[in-house]
Amino acid sequence: MAQCEVCGNDYDKTFEVVMEGQSHVFDSFECAIHALAPTCAHCGCQVIGHGVEADGAIYCCAHCAEESGIAGVSDRV
Ligand SMILES: [Zn+2]
Ligand SMILES: [Zn+2]
Repeated sequence: MAQCEVCGNDYDKTFEVVMEGQSHVFDSFECAIHALAPTCAHCGCQVIGHGVEADGAIYCCAHCAEESGIAGVSDRV
């Protein structure tokens, strides 16, 4: 039995995500995404797919990276 660290829900089917050595407990993927997903440096949406990493920033898609002046990126498949 654990408590979701985002919404505080006490739930018997919480799960743990370990990220960069720190463990986080959530009751749902929605809460996990809310807490852990990076945001696109261009449009600000949460990146829940692979995303595109360039120059230390994360973008949700190659289009956003290009709009931010990153050349030569393509979506990972
Ligand atoms: Zn929650
Ligand atoms: Zn974007």
